[in-house]
Amino acid sequence: MWSPEPWTTDRVMEGDFLYLMPTYTRFPRVFVRGRGTVLFDLEGREYLDFVAGIAANILGHCHPVVVEALRRQAETLIHCSNLYYTLPQVELAGLLVRLAFGGRGKAFFCQSGAEAVEGAIKLARKYAYRRGRAGQPIVCFKNAFHGRTLGALAATGRYTEGFDPLPAGFVSCPFGELGPVEAELQGGAIAVLVEPIQGEGGVWVAGPEFLRGLRELCDRYGALLILDEVQTAMGRTGRMFAWEHWGAVPDILVLAKGLGGGFPIGCVLARSEVAEAFSPGDHGSTFGGNPLGAAVALAVVRFLLKEDLPRRAGEKGELLGSGLRELEARFPFIREVRGRGLMWGVELTGPARPLAFECLEEGLLVSVAAERVLRFLPPLTVEGEEITRALEVVERVFRRFSEKMSGGG
Ligand SMILES: *Cc1c(COP(=O)(O)O)cnc(C)c1O
Repeated sequence: MWSPEPWTTDRVMEGDFLYLMPTYTRFPRVFVRGRGTVLFDLEGREYLDFVAGIAANILGHCHPVVVEALRRQAETLIHCSNLYYTLPQVELAGLLVRLAFGGRGKAFFCQSGAEAVEGAIKLARKYAYRRGRAGQPIVCFKNAFHGRTLGALAATGRYTEGFDPLPAGFVSCPFGELGPVEAELQGGAIAVLVEPIQGEGGVWVAGPEFLRGLRELCDRYGALLILDEVQTAMGRTGRMFAWEHWGAVPDILVLAKGLGGGFPIGCVLARSEVAEAFSPGDHGSTFGGNPLGAAVALAVVRFLLKEDLPRRAGEKGELLGSGLRELEARFPFIREVRGRGLMWGVELTGPARPLAFECLEEGLLVSVAAERVLRFLPPLTVEGEEITRALEVVERVFRRFSEKMSGGG
């Protein structure tokens, strides 16, 4: 009979195998503690964390600002439902609406990215319905990722095998091409849902012409521009929101991952006229925007602003990006290096997982996107010296791999 104690990595993996649904391909490490950019495993080994909880831990692990906000709010009021008003939720909404829409917008809170995407889809549909355009589709893109719930999955258009029937009302266009989008909008599509930089799909940067073009097309055809910034917002790309680089203001903005600095919270923001398509009863969530989640997100966003972290993340990102580009010139199995700020992908000519595994063995955590892309998402608080160390590990792993490829071993 399996029993937990004393814990070892093997025993944890066995327990996971026995008692958890097999939805993840995990790396064989058990993490028990974190501090800043560093994680410690069950065996006491140290790792530089360039995954950061998949872009969630923007202040690193156990940042005092996060810990203190959680502790203080936990001692005050954790949860009491949306049947009543609470202070942190209103304060957080006000701050986010000021940042995204200069004060002329509204927020809805939930717990995750997929849920925020669902909220955005419902809002766009209700808005269209109120203007006599019910039943028309939303334009999405190839290689997109919007989450795993049924609506978000339908919008994603991948990982769908065995899950039919999916909600209808989504059409998929090539990422980066305006022509097919225009055709759909001419045909009556009510909205465009897009990531400014596709993350999970392999770190594909939309670029200024494409995003601005989408904004113009949406204006021309009376459609809503919904930006899924679950991964790119909160300073990740060098601005608070990635669209600020390109000036393509969204009608609806979807946030999650980094918003709570590692605590689960998601948010749908919309400019006021769009937000007012919702009436009481149209949408809701038991835990959404509860005092604990809202208080920690509020502390995180205030800290980002006070420390000018988005801009500094952009600067540190230059170091990471130029280091990776240098490797691109040296190793022929690197197809392309793409990214912005502290969000980088190294596309390889073959599977990336073996190399991510080698990095793990050398004490560096990186993730894999779209099978062939090594993805780097360090916390915004990462030190320049930690970026240098991470690049050294990657260089070493690539060099070894290159020697093996050329028949050395
Ligand atoms: C991760 C992600 C989601 C889904 O977020 P969850 O919190 O995992 O539901 C949605 N959109 C984008 C762009 C993401 O990166």
